[in-house]
Amino acid sequence: MSKKAEPIRSVKGTRDLLPPDTVLWNHVEEVARTVFGTFGFGEIRPPVFEPTELFARAVGGETDIVSKEMYTFEDRDDSQISLRPEATASVCRAYIEHGMHSLPQPVKLYYMGPMFRRERPQKGRYRQFYQIGAEVLEALQPGQGGPKDIPKDAAIDAEVIEMVMTFFERLGLQGVQLDINSIGDKNCRRKYVETLRAELQRVKDKLGPDSQRRLETNPLRVLDSKLENEQPIIETLPRIGDHLCADCKAHYAALRQQLDLRRVKYRENWRLVRGLDYYMRTTFEITAQGLGAQNAVCGGGRYDGLVELLGGQPTKGIGFAIGEDRLILSLQEQMRDSASLPLATRLPAGQAGHSPLVYIAWMGEKAQATAIRAAQTLRAAGFSVEWPPVEQKFGKALGQADKLGAKFALILGDNEVSSGDWTLKTLADSSQQKLTEPQLLDFLRKL
Ligand code: ATP
Ligand code: MG
Repeated sequence: MSKKAEPIRSVKGTRDLLPPDTVLWNHVEEVARTVFGTFGFGEIRPPVFEPTELFARAVGGETDIVSKEMYTFEDRDDSQISLRPEATASVCRAYIEHGMHSLPQPVKLYYMGPMFRRERPQKGRYRQFYQIGAEVLEALQPGQGGPKDIPKDAAIDAEVIEMVMTFFERLGLQGVQLDINSIGDKNCRRKYVETLRAELQRVKDKLGPDSQRRLETNPLRVLDSKLENEQPIIETLPRIGDHLCADCKAHYAALRQQLDLRRVKYRENWRLVRGLDYYMRTTFEITAQGLGAQNAVCGGGRYDGLVELLGGQPTKGIGFAIGEDRLILSLQEQMRDSASLPLATRLPAGQAGHSPLVYIAWMGEKAQATAIRAAQTLRAAGFSVEWPPVEQKFGKALGQADKLGAKFALILGDNEVSSGDWTLKTLADSSQQKLTEPQLLDFLRKL
């Protein structure tokens, strides 16, 4: 006898999404498509792997994402390839590659799909995870740019934020908190960071090793610190809001006004930063309930200049990425708490796959042909049908119908086949009725 083979397990940090959870995943994606469509966004599907150089340039070689977390490999022709850790870089690359600057501007694109980062797996943090994101890109025409664009830019930022909030609202996501901030632009931020660094130097001894390191590499990230004992120190640090240049200040004021006009509720959070150089002015983050430490479901911001960094012409950009895994976790958490949510009723309990609407119980050679026809007709009309592949005693078939959670059993025996009057049993109350094939279709359609 040969030794039993060892089962192979999925790679750490990856997971299978299974029914019935995938019903919710599809629902979320469908709502995203619908809502984003109403805001004039079209879908882009970039590849999941790209030249490593794209992320090195766009995300930055010194970031954790690129330096430690990327899945990079050498292809057979010696080129360096990476699985995408995010998709903004790909969207910008595609914008340049397909000459989208010659389309009517701005170009509005959304995407959804898997991203890959080699992080420490925990609740809401995986090595393959899913994002739903969108970007608005606008190539600068000659004579454009500068302070006179501020009202337009701020309105676009506000509309992008409004779109995410509308999406969450449409899903019935609860405990949603939107935080906004302005992180200035290249010029005023640079000065602020120097002021911040000087201040951090003075309190260096009271900071932990992580913050001490960030003080050197990226002082803004110190503001991210969640360490209890660092909080009182951080509260005393200089705030970027007090160091914005006139244009950035005007942009931030216009953003808040535009959000107010749209009745989007927000909280100003001066500690909200992005670690990447090309981010400027508007940054935002959205948190939701039931997620513990990993409670950010969406991060976004403005990134004028990124397209140029990737070899395109001067182009403005703003976008966001939603963590779909966390969004789903939060919705599921919520459904556990309140059975009354409309979403909860969409999810079949316990079994894999959808519950059939109709289970066909059949017996006899003639009944098989009728069952095949009935299944074809019902499925063509959009009803889900399940039935035993080989003849089964009615008792056993009805038991199976119950187990699968079917609503009706269509009973086809010799009598039904010869008379053309089929028996439909409602499983919830065991009531029965006789229906011809057209009557059955009619009955189901009226449900
Ligand atoms: P975090 O601070 O939680 O690590 P991040 O700043 O790295 O998030 P972004 O790169 O801005 O996140 O990505 C946007 C969103 O994608 C996050 O708000 C989060 O919901 C989700 N996300 C990021 N990394 C992961 C991951 N490893 N697993 C699951 N979701 C993730
Ligand atoms: Mg991260």
